[in-house]
Amino acid sequence: MAFDPQRALADLDIIAARTGGLDDGGARRLCWSDEWLAARAYVRSELEKLPVEIATDEAGNLWAYLRGDGDGIVAVGSHVDSVPNGGWLDGVLGIAGALEVLRAAADRGTPPCTIAFVDWADEEGARFSRSLFGSSAASGHMVPAELADLLDRDGNRLEDVVAACGVDLARVLEAGSRLQGIRAYLELHIEQGPVLESEGLAVGTVLGTVGVERARGRFTGQAAHAGSTPIRQRRDSFLAAARTALELREIALRHGGVCTVGGATCTPGIVTAVPGVTEILIDQRHLDASVLAVMKADLAAAATRIAAEEGCGVVLEPIWRIDPIPFDDDLIAIARAAVRDVTGTDRALPSGPLHDAAEVARAGIPTVMIFSSSTNGISHAKEEDTPREHLALALEAYGRAVDRVVGGADA
Ligand SMILES: [Zn+2]
Repeated sequence: MAFDPQRALADLDIIAARTGGLDDGGARRLCWSDEWLAARAYVRSELEKLPVEIATDEAGNLWAYLRGDGDGIVAVGSHVDSVPNGGWLDGVLGIAGALEVLRAAADRGTPPCTIAFVDWADEEGARFSRSLFGSSAASGHMVPAELADLLDRDGNRLEDVVAACGVDLARVLEAGSRLQGIRAYLELHIEQGPVLESEGLAVGTVLGTVGVERARGRFTGQAAHAGSTPIRQRRDSFLAAARTALELREIALRHGGVCTVGGATCTPGIVTAVPGVTEILIDQRHLDASVLAVMKADLAAAATRIAAEEGCGVVLEPIWRIDPIPFDDDLIAIARAAVRDVTGTDRALPSGPLHDAAEVARAGIPTVMIFSSSTNGISHAKEEDTPREHLALALEAYGRAVDRVVGGADA
């Protein structure tokens, strides 16, 4: 039997019925919880119907191997965990797609190479504010000791919570051995943003995850009486910060990236005083590292110029950064061809959110993702949705792309 998107959609309906979905307050598959385990148990029960070897690795990732003839492993997967009151598609769409890949391949006999299914543990990090648990353990980018004492809302330690699910935090990096021999990783996911929908598209190919530069901008002027100080004689730190925020929008538009001022704090912060000090929180993102560097330099130049014009000083203090993680050119070409064959359209876009696929790519494994549209661009909310025909097209394109990478008669 061929890859059947309708079977994958049926899996999604079953998982939503058991662990929360669109009509009952959203998904409740918070990682390491009973409902996460229930969703996993369903996935496992479906895997057990196939001629696959099932294993859970040291980081709690669930694997299933359909052994093939040739060398090299093609991996497919995503995550079943969700944020609290989350969407019915985030993560599980890719799990349903990967499961259907195994079903269709098993039905055709022995595949040309081994296909590995993976359900990564705790992609969301919703409980301990630490995303990509299982995939970062496998990629070697996790420092387990830094995680041990993280607490959830009820005061439970991460190390104890994962131990209750059979994960020994001291050994999670051993999951890295699972990546040996993998020559490609393909993940299907919802976009979680409005780009595809706004262009009337159902499916797109993902070029990589964007790089991020975060900084705190501290503008220093002079606090002064709001009544007695003439406008021309003010050194208003808020106006300097606000003009910089407006300039950030121009920087983003000029370079095709995004910039956000996510917070602003004025001191003394009272209605009767010109703000002497204003701090703003700045986030800049782009897929291209060199362009992101230019955006960062543009911000520094603009803030310095504007602060001087307002009679203020400014210091930009870095908070956090991550490099862009580009996906593999050959796999991107294969995915784009599959999307074009299925939908008649070819849109490639970067991902703003990080994904398990980014960790796999950081580990040096050629990687690509395919996105379905997201209705109103909403995700991490119970309203998250995608038209079923878009899901079916995305699944179909994903199945074709995997077939082409695995090779053999259908390639
Ligand atoms: Zn996700």
